[in-house]
Amino acid sequence: MGTRHTEATKQISYLSGALKAPRITEAASRLADHARDANWSYEDYLAAVLEREVSARNASGAELRIKAAGFPGRKTLEDFDWDAQPALRQQIAALSSGAFLAEARNVVLLGPPGTGKTHLAIALGIVAARHGHRVLFATATDWVTRLSEAHQHGRLPGELARLRRYGLIIIDEVGYLPFEQDAANLFFQLVSSRYEHASLILTSNLPFSGWGGVFGDQAVAAAMIDRIVHHADVLTLKGASYRLRGRGINSLPSTKTTTEQTTD
Ligand code: ADP
Ligand code: MG
Repeated sequence: MGTRHTEATKQISYLSGALKAPRITEAASRLADHARDANWSYEDYLAAVLEREVSARNASGAELRIKAAGFPGRKTLEDFDWDAQPALRQQIAALSSGAFLAEARNVVLLGPPGTGKTHLAIALGIVAARHGHRVLFATATDWVTRLSEAHQHGRLPGELARLRRYGLIIIDEVGYLPFEQDAANLFFQLVSSRYEHASLILTSNLPFSGWGGVFGDQAVAAAMIDRIVHHADVLTLKGASYRLRGRGINSLPSTKTTTEQTTD
């Protein structure tokens, strides 16, 4: 490498530092030899260097969004065993394009305990983070606590507005605990504020017909379900709990009477 290269290399290193893009230094020198060998145009070379920086930034942005989402664990579509839920493979593959987020569509995962509802909700949350969307995950009970607090301090409209800036909100375990009337109304407001604006993923061990009991009011439940499913993919998971596989236990009491409460 001649003196001119060395000078230019030093300058690239300084300038990429000034741009807060230190990876450009490495990409520039690594790709330069390759570009000379392959007779790349200046434009091709610049595009390749910038592309490395942008994809590295996107990846670290996604990682930050995944950390901020509050997932209870890291579960991906890659580690989901489709043999346990063969009917879902196609539907989830379609969702994994992330198009549902741009269209503010919802996803509802219904099924007995242990069938992978939370796993798939997290996995789709990770997909959303990788597509550049901010994501927040919490159980239905935690959401109600959060909204009640905001409501008590007169901050509910502000909180709902803040939450609308998240492309995806995940509400896990609707139906594990029944709500007070107040809580049901707060929940309804959350659903309404996102309707046709940003996506929700909900999971529940109850069929929709059991939601009236959870919200303590058939009319509130019906109005909410109406808004949720108007633009939604409803996926039904089936079978025995994945947690109990190979333990000689084939079903839980709740898998037989789906309208009963369960504590998973
Ligand atoms: P649910 O939310 O429906 O009660 P989870 O998603 O929490 O069930 O699943 C229970 C456990 O079993 C989790 O550790 C999850 O990762 C795992 N699991 C469930 N279904 C599958 C599957 N099809 N492939 C791989 N792991 C699964
Ligand atoms: Mg779960």
